[in-house]
Amino acid sequence: MNPFQYQRARDESSAAQAIGPRAKFLAGGTNLIDLMKNGVEHPETLIDINRLALAAIEPLPDGGLRLGALARNSDTANHPLVRQQYPLLSQAILSGASPQLRNLATNGGNLLQRTRCPYFMEPAFPQCNKRAPGSGCGAIGGFNRMHAIFGASEQCIAVHPSDMAVALAALDAVIHVRAKAGPREIPIADFHRLPGDTPSIDTNLKADELILSIHLPPSRFAAHSSYVKVRDRASYEFALVSVAAALQIEGGVIRSARLALGGVAHKPWRAQAAEQSLVGQRPAPATFEAAGKQAVTGAKTYSQNAYKVELASRAVARALSIAGGVA
Ligand code: SF4
Repeated sequence: MNPFQYQRARDESSAAQAIGPRAKFLAGGTNLIDLMKNGVEHPETLIDINRLALAAIEPLPDGGLRLGALARNSDTANHPLVRQQYPLLSQAILSGASPQLRNLATNGGNLLQRTRCPYFMEPAFPQCNKRAPGSGCGAIGGFNRMHAIFGASEQCIAVHPSDMAVALAALDAVIHVRAKAGPREIPIADFHRLPGDTPSIDTNLKADELILSIHLPPSRFAAHSSYVKVRDRASYEFALVSVAAALQIEGGVIRSARLALGGVAHKPWRAQAAEQSLVGQRPAPATFEAAGKQAVTGAKTYSQNAYKVELASRAVARALSIAGGVA
C-alpha cells in the first residue's frame, strides 16, 4: 500500500475545495481501501467525508424520497419508507455483499464501486485497459465467464458489480452532486459509462464532484416489483445475472414496466424494448417469457459466457412473474 495523506473534511464546501486529481473521497472505504491494498488505486490524499451531514433519508416534497450519499447500505435497505415504497431497492441492497459490509458501505460508494474483473483486481496481470490504459484486455481471450454480454467494447468487457444501482436504474433515480462550479443532477442512466475507448473511466462524475444524495421519484411500483439475483453461491457473491423488475398494474393490465439487468454490462442495463412490449398486456407467464427473450436481443457473447443469454432471459421472466403475481 502506497503512503497517502489523510484529511478530514469539515463540511461540503471544504470537501469540494480539497478534492483534486490525485485525491479521493473516503466514505465506507469497503472497495477503495481494498483496491489501495492491492495496488490498483494509489491516491496521494484521502479526504474523509464521513462527518458530513449527508446520511439522512427523508421524503421529498413531490412524494419521492431522498437517500443521503452517506447513508449506510443497511440503514437504507431497512428504512421504513424504503421498505414500504421501494421494496425493490431494499431487496437489491440486501442481496449484495455481507451484513458487515452493508453496515459500512455508503450509498454514494456503492454507485462508485469498481468492477471485480480478476485482471483488474490483480496488478500482477499485465493486460487490463481499465487499470493500465493501452495494455490490452486479458479477459477477452481469457477468463470471461463473469463478463458482459451487452455494451462491451474491444477495449473492455467488464461488468458493473452493484446490485443497488440496478434497482436505482429501474426506479429512474437521479444523482445529485456538488462541484466547485455548483450543483448538478445526473440521471442514473447517464451516471455510469460504457467502456468504449476509455474503459478506465467508470462514470460521468467529474473529478471534483461530490455525490450528495440520490433522489427517487414518487413510488408507482411498490405493489409489483422483484429483484432476482443469480449467483454461484447463495450469499456474499456478485451476480452472474440480476434483474430488477417493476410493474404498474391497474385493472389487471400492465400500464408501465421497468426492467434493469445487472451482471451483463459495464453499467446497469435497461431493457426498454422489453418494457414497452409489456405495456397493455395482462400479467401471464407466456407474456413474461416473451419479454425475457426480447430483453436479450442483441447480446454478444465471448468464449465462456454464452450461458448468460439464456440465464438472463429466464431471470427476466422469473422476476416479472414474481412482480406480476403469477410465479
Ligand atoms: Fe481490464 Fe476490462 Fe479487460 Fe477486465 S474486461 S481485463 S477490467 S480491460
